Amino acid sequence: KPNLKIKDLHVAIDEKEILKGVNLEINGGEIHAIMGPNGTGKSTLASALMGHPRYEVSKGEALLDQADLLDMDVDERARAGLFLAMQYPSEVSGVTNSDFLRSAINAKRDEGNEISLMKFIREMDKKMELLEMDEKFATRYLNEGFSGGEKKRNEILQLMMLNPRIAILDEIDSGLDIDALKVVAAGVNAMRGDEFGALIITHYQRLLNYIKPDFVHVFMQGRIVKSGGPELAERLEAEGYDWVKEELGIED
Ligand code: ADP
Ligand code: MG
Ligand code: MG
Repeated sequence: KPNLKIKDLHVAIDEKEILKGVNLEINGGEIHAIMGPNGTGKSTLASALMGHPRYEVSKGEALLDQADLLDMDVDERARAGLFLAMQYPSEVSGVTNSDFLRSAINAKRDEGNEISLMKFIREMDKKMELLEMDEKFATRYLNEGFSGGEKKRNEILQLMMLNPRIAILDEIDSGLDIDALKVVAAGVNAMRGDEFGALIITHYQRLLNYIKPDFVHVFMQGRIVKSGGPELAERLEAEGYDWVKEELGIED
């Protein structure tokens, strides 16, 4: 089973400490949600795990299946089975969506073991159908002229095609109408299983009505300050974050 273990992770940007001791463990079969006010470091956590060069790890560990993630370059992290939607270029002219996906899949495979074109097309067709994507998407240039909703669907298509061990999805719900949200959620739910774990970062509870998390974590001041089950997300939606601050004696 996949396992991501984050231990006392501290991350700085331009010498300013943003993450102040994040602890989190995600196993295969589990979906975790991180919720929290804006500017508390949620995306910084995603970027640091991705290996963004601006984010400097000053302390702590991140292990993927016991291997030191922080020691790997971005490509190695993907090869090891980590997926972050943001690791993919936002727009690439001259590269079609399907060409990009096929090379991303093959980059994760050993030489001589590349996916056959037929198998690739079959899988891509099946997944695009589930995501209610028009066939034309396959041959359009990557993200070029895609609407916000189309980009998000495409991210989930990438997720489904790359079939990672652990996925980190940062604000995949932002800017989606309810129909697109349901489709995106159906894609993530189709990934569920013992060989897949996910961290869903979101500002709103709405997404979690469609992707039921097993664990919900509240993120504030650069770390997880409270954890619980799905009911925690519901309470945050209803009451906001003030009660958490009061309970923990956190001041802004
Ligand atoms: P969240 O995703 O929770 O809204 P972020 O991780 O985006 O929060 O940001 C956390 C803090 O780090 C904010 O104070 C933000 O201004 C700062 N920050 C994030 N990215 C950068 C960056 N590239 N350069 C400088 N500061 C940054
Ligand atoms: Mg933000
Ligand atoms: Mg963010």
